[in-house]
Amino acid sequence: MQSPQQILEHIFGYPHFRDPQAAVIDTLMAGNDALVLMPTGGGKSLCYQIPALARSGCGVVVSPLIALMQDQVEALQEASIRAAFLNSSVPYDETLAIEDQLLHGTLDLLYLAPERLLQPHTLSLLQRVELSLFAIDEAHCVSQWGHDFRANYLQLNCLHEQFPCVPRIALTATADQRTRAEIARRLNLETARHFVSSFDRPNIRYRIEPKDNPRRQLLQFLCGTQKGSAGIIYCLSRAKVENTAEWLSQQGYTALPYHAGLPAATRAEHQRRFLREEGVIIVATIAFGMGIDKPDVRFVVHLDLPKSIEAYYQETGRAGRDSEPSVTLLLYGLEDVVKLAQMVEASEGSEEHKRHERGRLNAMLGLCEITSCRRQALLHYFAETLDHPCGNCDTCLEPPATWDASEAAIKLLSCVYRTGQRFGASHVIDVLRGSRNEKVRKFGHDQLSTHGIGKDLATSEWRAVMRQLIVRGYLEVTGEFQGLRLTELCRPLLRRETSLQLRKLPAKGPRFVSRDASASEDLACEDQPLWQALRSCRKALAEERGVPPYVVFHDATLRGMVKAHPQTRSELLAVSGVGASRLARFGDTFLAVLRDFPKR
Ligand code: ADP
Ligand code: ZN
Repeated sequence: MQSPQQILEHIFGYPHFRDPQAAVIDTLMAGNDALVLMPTGGGKSLCYQIPALARSGCGVVVSPLIALMQDQVEALQEASIRAAFLNSSVPYDETLAIEDQLLHGTLDLLYLAPERLLQPHTLSLLQRVELSLFAIDEAHCVSQWGHDFRANYLQLNCLHEQFPCVPRIALTATADQRTRAEIARRLNLETARHFVSSFDRPNIRYRIEPKDNPRRQLLQFLCGTQKGSAGIIYCLSRAKVENTAEWLSQQGYTALPYHAGLPAATRAEHQRRFLREEGVIIVATIAFGMGIDKPDVRFVVHLDLPKSIEAYYQETGRAGRDSEPSVTLLLYGLEDVVKLAQMVEASEGSEEHKRHERGRLNAMLGLCEITSCRRQALLHYFAETLDHPCGNCDTCLEPPATWDASEAAIKLLSCVYRTGQRFGASHVIDVLRGSRNEKVRKFGHDQLSTHGIGKDLATSEWRAVMRQLIVRGYLEVTGEFQGLRLTELCRPLLRRETSLQLRKLPAKGPRFVSRDASASEDLACEDQPLWQALRSCRKALAEERGVPPYVVFHDATLRGMVKAHPQTRSELLAVSGVGASRLARFGDTFLAVLRDFPKR
């Protein structure tokens, strides 16, 4: 039997454990339980795969996500690990064969959906064989307050009673304290060792921009990503999903719509193409994502404002699970701010519930408007501290300019007051800019002292001021007509006792286009042909075997090949991510490509 370190090197092809993988694995090797909280892409899988291989017996992995099971098992099989999965999609004769392997001790890892594991037949089967461990993936599904609650996860506490000698490990990427406590309690893991990692995702670049011309902004963003990158674009409505996908296709991208209103077969087909092909963009409502474990999603875009920072962090977190550089873009505008604020006010919930929702929305809006590091603010929200600005978000990379907006704010607030605190943003701006349209005349607002006092700023600039005044709590949105009302905060500003600094609108026209981070960013231009050749080689092998490209090799491994440019099998084995069995399977094919290019 090999040691964990030997398995890491020989089978997975990695030289070192990441923090805290080694400590987690030691805990299980000693027969103890562990609860692991690690962000997406942190490397949770090895925490149970390696001890399952290093201990005798079969490791049982419980996962609610069928697509993910299949991917993991395929990747393990490519590394010559005896792995299988059982769920409702597996035909009967195959199921029998797998059960047979289990009984004969020729299986290292068995993946099961919770409902399958809990069947009396399965439990009695497991009682008859030697087990190395139980791994409970996506453990936050036991949390009744979470969004992924699954009732049958609650019954997993029976494992503790029925298999007291088999160590258990529960894993999740859900951050908060309350969920962690609930997992420990419901799965009887109070005495387990807890491993809590930082939730920072340093490889993800955050970019948040006010909506100006969303399509142009989106195109500009896509131009900055590496050609052929896979990505997800989120929109709130089904109609917008379809329009956006169609428009992107006209622009020459492979963009597929995904929302709950499409036939199941179409959804499955679009999901399959996203996983199997390279460079597919999915345009989706938030229905898309849970259970999609594609490691090489290079970008995530939000064309509408997410409801909370939790949602934003989870959705952007689907980028870059492979820890390679990835980028995100959120566009938000005055309409979003007004619409969401009104939705909260109009919701059915109790006053306390509304207060809670208002708080979450304000935190999200605050994140959009801050002029300091986004990552510091995000982590702070999750009760973590980042000592230095990150250097990998838009506010760090291009610090936003601010201006003294006190006078403009006073004009706007006065105009809201004079018009009676019941009109929406557009009308107030019309009055400020001196419009004499029908509505302005009908209410006699062309007679007001504030009529036309704001001709010095363009409508778009007034909208930016308005948005920031709402976000900062000077104005609140009321009623079904989205009327605006002054709050107590306005007093000192109107009396000129304080001043107000606001974010400047980004300059119009072609912004300085920085090529955003992408997986091949730090490769020199001369290396691009080799990188592309390795990618085609991977694609051909993946198609031949009917697996997604990343099951053959991850991007990081291909990049390692470009950098080291190995010419022999032993040099290739030294590249991170190349293990003995992938070397045997794919080594010669990749070496042939590598040898075609002169070593620099
Ligand atoms: P998670 O389940 O936490 O989202 P994964 O287990 O899928 O993360 O791992 C994310 C990526 O990191 C995978 O590409 C995996 O191969 C890689 N990885 C994990 N552990 C290591 C390690 N010790 N060294 C190098 N790469 C690693
Ligand atoms: Zn930053």
